[in-house]
This record gives sequence, structure tokens and C-alpha cells, in this order.
Amino acid sequence: MIVKMKRTSTQAEYDNLVNALKNRGFSIKDVSSETVRIFGIIGDTATLELTDVKAFDGVEQVIRVQTPFKQASRTFKESDTVITLPNGVHIGKDHPVMIAGPCSVESSAQLKAIAGSLFKQGIRILRGGAFKPRTSPYTFQGLGEEGLLLLREVADQYAMAVISEIPSSELLPLFEKYVDIIQVGARNMQNFQLLKVLGQSKKPIMLKRGLSATIEEWLMSAEYILSQGNPNVILCERGIRTFETYTRNTLDLSAVLAIKELSHLPVIVDPSHASGRWTMIGPLSKAALSVGADGLMVEVHNDPENALSDGAQSLKIHRFDTMMEELKSLSESLRRPLI
Ligand code: PEP
Ligand code: MN
Repeated sequence: MIVKMKRTSTQAEYDNLVNALKNRGFSIKDVSSETVRIFGIIGDTATLELTDVKAFDGVEQVIRVQTPFKQASRTFKESDTVITLPNGVHIGKDHPVMIAGPCSVESSAQLKAIAGSLFKQGIRILRGGAFKPRTSPYTFQGLGEEGLLLLREVADQYAMAVISEIPSSELLPLFEKYVDIIQVGARNMQNFQLLKVLGQSKKPIMLKRGLSATIEEWLMSAEYILSQGNPNVILCERGIRTFETYTRNTLDLSAVLAIKELSHLPVIVDPSHASGRWTMIGPLSKAALSVGADGLMVEVHNDPENALSDGAQSLKIHRFDTMMEELKSLSESLRRPLI
């Protein structure tokens, strides 16, 4: 962290700040000139907030040079994190993965119809919401535990892994029983209490980017999970809120590249929630694979017109099949075949 003192600052103000920092275990590297008083704070500055320093009299500017996240950063761990699921699927290795399934688990018949078709395409990870974070309390809220049980039963028939969203920490025992990856939804990305509890679980956690979260805030949320001892975090870019209303959100594909630079954690892209339109899922999926995403998560439904949630952004099965053929051939030409 670099600190520039005001031109009018006094020696006493400088000494006061430097002594306070030394008392907190930091050392100081002064690089002042005749015209400007400036110094670097050396040590683990992740524990120091900019405002802790700005609070001192005489300070003009404070700049962070190290990232505030530690365990999530590439500096902490250079090699890519690879997450292995109980069915042997790897996330974060050479092959991007396709995660697919309905927005919500609605019934046994619905889930069986969808999973059976996904299996034919070689899909190894089944998604489905059982506890739905809906904008309106009057819309379908999910089947709850019954939904998780259905997911598990149907996925087991096809040796698929299961991912589902956890809404709150008291449901962790239920999720640990039924699912292989626990999803944290965009709306809960900064539910730090939930993140801390998930950090104590052994299950991989997929952390979706918050609707208005910066990349740094997103990685700080990952840090909450990592710092509690759970190293298995997957990031998911699902679009952010911008001024644009034509699409449901705005897919930030540069975030995939930024994450690859800043972090060793795998990052996947959800073009369904990003666009809100099934017509865009195929092209956005191609774009995501082209920028090096570690996978995709796509909503698929056997009857989207009558879906209980997110029908407009769910692919019909035959369209998903066509998209998969295209994605397989693209990913082979990128030399990272999709699984
Ligand atoms: C979901 O994936 O089911 C979901 C609700 O997504 P998000 O949290 O990104 O809105
Ligand atoms: Mn959805």
C-alpha cells in the first residue's frame, strides 16, 4: 500500500501514522523527495483497509498495490485449481464442462424427461433449483427437500453429479446429503454468514457473481469460503446489472479473462441468466468457450412454455442437442473438447 501525505502535513502527523502502522506489525519504506512525502507500507496489507489509513490527519491519498484477496489470488497459488466430483468429472482441467438442467425441479416426470435427454448428449452434471430465490414471493418457490431428493435419484440413474442452490446456512445438512456442488446464487454472493458456513463444508461451492458486484468483490466473497478451509470454489459469471434492459443482464465475458489473470479458481459462464433469452444461449456459449471459460451452465426444459420459472431462457431439448453439436465441434477446434 502506498501513502502520499498532504503537502501541508506536519512531521508530527507523519510520525503518528508511521508509529500506528508499526504498532500493527507493518514496516515502512519511505521514498519521499524534497517536494512530496510518500511511503510504502510493507507487510500483510490484506488486513488493512484503505480507510484505516485515510482516517489519519495529513493523509492525501492511499493506493493499494496488493490485492485484498489472498488465497483466491494467483500469487498465492499459481497452478489452476481442479475440482474433482464424486463421478470423476473434473472442473478446471483441460476440458470445459457443460452443466445443464431445468431452472427449477418441478416434478419427477419433468426431471426424468430432461435428464434422460441430457444423458444422451453426454452431460455429467445436472442442475436444478429446489429452493428458488424468486423476485416475487407469489411465484413458484421450488419443491424444497423433495426437489433435492428427485435430483439425487434421477442423477444417480445416469451417474451424474448434482448442483443446486442453497438459500440459507441452516439447510446445509440437507444439501450435504443430496448434492455434489452447492450453488450460491447471485443474490447471496455477499451473504458473508452463509459463505463462512459453506467454508466449513467439504462440498465444492459454485459462487455466482452478484448482480452488481465488481470482480474484486466477487473474489473477496470467494476468499470468505477459502479462508474457512474449503479450497473447492468455482466461480460463475452470470451477467451483471447495467443500464441495458433488452437482455435480462449484461454478460461480462472479460470477467472470465480477468479471473484467469487474478485467480487460480475455475470460472464458468451461465448464458441463460445473463441474457434471459434462449435465442442467445448458443452464441454466448460459443463466445464463453472462446475466451477460455472452464464450463457453461445452461437451462434446459422439456416444455419451456409451461415452465414454472425462467421458461423464456430455457432451451427446448432439440435446440440444446443442436447447440451441443456445434459446441463440441467448436471446442475441438479450440483444442479443449467439451465434456
Ligand atoms: C439459478 O442459477 O437458478 C439462479 C437463480 O441464478 P442467479 O443466482 O444467477 O440469478
Ligand atoms: Mn433460472
